[in-house]
Amino acid sequence: MITKVYILMFCIGFQFSIEAQEIHKRSLGLMGSNFDITVVAQNQTQAQAYIDTAVNEIYRIEKLISSWKPESQTSAINRNAGIQPVKVDKELFDLIKRSKGISQLTDGAFDISFAAIEHIFSFKGQQTTWPSQDVIDASVKNISYQNIVLDEKNQTVFLKYKGMRIGFGAIGKGYAADKAKALLVEKGVSGGIINASGDMNTWGTQPDGSAWKVAITNPMDKTKNFGLFDLNREAVVTSGNYEKFIMVDGQRYAHIIDPRTGMPTQGIISATVFAPKAELADALATSIFVMGSEVGINLINQLPGVEAIIVKDDGTLVLSNKIKIKSK
Ligand code: ADP
Ligand code: MG
Repeated sequence: MITKVYILMFCIGFQFSIEAQEIHKRSLGLMGSNFDITVVAQNQTQAQAYIDTAVNEIYRIEKLISSWKPESQTSAINRNAGIQPVKVDKELFDLIKRSKGISQLTDGAFDISFAAIEHIFSFKGQQTTWPSQDVIDASVKNISYQNIVLDEKNQTVFLKYKGMRIGFGAIGKGYAADKAKALLVEKGVSGGIINASGDMNTWGTQPDGSAWKVAITNPMDKTKNFGLFDLNREAVVTSGNYEKFIMVDGQRYAHIIDPRTGMPTQGIISATVFAPKAELADALATSIFVMGSEVGINLINQLPGVEAIIVKDDGTLVLSNKIKIKSK
């Protein structure tokens, strides 16, 4: 009898806490992008405290990895290119090491040393001609992930040649989403979404127990989408050429650079990647623009737990093995 009462009390308590869970969201600018942070919490006060924790974590990461902030360790590495190795935090060292790993995985399509050429292009839509081949050649020779020298023992990073640069534009938001999520999971937050302008990581479920869902917009017609996807692979990231691009002779080029030629890429409008981690999804979505849809989808199909939806610039879709599109 006593046991029964206890069970009943437990059930009442359990139901109460489930019912009290609510979804709270805050939108703000971080890392030069719009972030939406959503958490499941019991009340407004608790939710705001959780969201503050995530925001502080993202600020901390930005301060460490941003190549735009002169005081960051990344900027110190860049300033010392061709001069000397720079000792960095283990966190940054490991991020660079994983980035080099993704360069190997993608046969050099992904390369954080693309940044050596970044300054010769402007992707705000006004640039209509290419820089001269001499200018391109002078910078492209400095793109080479093999020349990012990591010294594990001393925890230093050295860019071998003057003129080399690194930047985390293609992976940083994904990394920040993963880290903010990990911190909130550690604090016991049962579910949420860290969405960095379409680069997102999710965990847990909505308060009613259903999966978080994402609608993937059709870039050819933004009033339509490819259907609602359950986020049981947790992270989903989209790279597109519709916000930052260059138009030359009526052709649109993405803000993603082919490390082999130093030229902006063409042929793909958007690449959406589902993966267990936003960092990997972010890097792969960028890489697909460089690899092209055929090579890109072949790589995706070889990676367990990773799926992709690619939209080519003629509007055709290239889907990985497990993606089923319900509607367009
Ligand atoms: P967004 O930042 O718009 O979400 P991406 O994740 O695709 O888009 O990242 C594009 C950014 O990645 C560029 O603005 C640039 O900073 C960086 N980048 C460009 N080309 C490469 C490349 N080949 N490898 C790694 N990073 C790149
Ligand atoms: Mg990316």
